[in-house]
Amino acid sequence: MATALITHADGLDHVTPSGHPERVARLEHVLHALQPLELQRVTAREASEEELLRCHPQSYIDRVRNAVPERGQHQLDSDTWLSPGSFRAASRAAGGACQAVDMVLGGEVANVFCATRPPGHHAERETPMGFCLFGTAAIAAKHALEHHGLSRVAVVDFDVHHGNGTQDLLWDEARALFITSQQMPLWPGSGAPEQRGAHDNVMNLPLPPETGGAEMKTRYEAEAFPRLRAFDPELLIISAGFDAHQDDPLANLNWTVEDFRWITEQLCEIAQTSAAGGRVVSTLEGGYDLAGLSASAKAHVEVLMEAGA
Ligand SMILES: [Zn+2]
Repeated sequence: MATALITHADGLDHVTPSGHPERVARLEHVLHALQPLELQRVTAREASEEELLRCHPQSYIDRVRNAVPERGQHQLDSDTWLSPGSFRAASRAAGGACQAVDMVLGGEVANVFCATRPPGHHAERETPMGFCLFGTAAIAAKHALEHHGLSRVAVVDFDVHHGNGTQDLLWDEARALFITSQQMPLWPGSGAPEQRGAHDNVMNLPLPPETGGAEMKTRYEAEAFPRLRAFDPELLIISAGFDAHQDDPLANLNWTVEDFRWITEQLCEIAQTSAAGGRVVSTLEGGYDLAGLSASAKAHVEVLMEAGA
């Protein structure tokens, strides 16, 4: 068994305005950092309409598609932009994650890292938000549940921002457990522990600013990991954002590369000893310091490779 890297050059065709933190260089730096690793490299497919429709209504998909400009850029909200290649890039991010689910459930590889952009975890059912167009991680979870017939899928989101979109998309989904940690207070402001989902299927772990990796480890060990083990997922999806890194310009959680390595090791160990049998799909979310992002993503993928060997 091996680890696959799913990506596509279309991810570089989603072009944001100069100075925007969610920029083409992010994906270039991640791919450069992963270059030396012996990964099974796979081209991301586009998502089918059916796959997108599991999380977003047709009217929303059409609205995003129709808002794509022929040239230049179109602004959807204060943070979220479209360029001519954006729909295809977001479609490949969602499609690549579904393809990753197909690959791990088909026994082709042990686990997958999807290096795609734009990120997805802020996109709500009918609202693009925070650089995100489609709810990639939730779409992958729904694909595993609806298409493959799994009965328990867990999504863990360690991006420094609240995964409000994934929470919205999985709120009513009793077959999914969504665990998300986030700096609080921080944009978008949601993610309090009282937000538990319609079936007590959402766990929010707010982390105070400047607390660092030690607090993260304590909270995950005390709250997230026992909950995840008890759920006994058949598949683990990771929303892998690396903006909790100490050098990230958008947040102040001060995690190190070793902290990202640690949390990945723990999640892989739980996946190995649960019904998932080691099956992990990880998809890139945030991370805006290019050096911190690429070093953390590389450490994350190295752990996936060790776990999948
Ligand atoms: Zn983020």
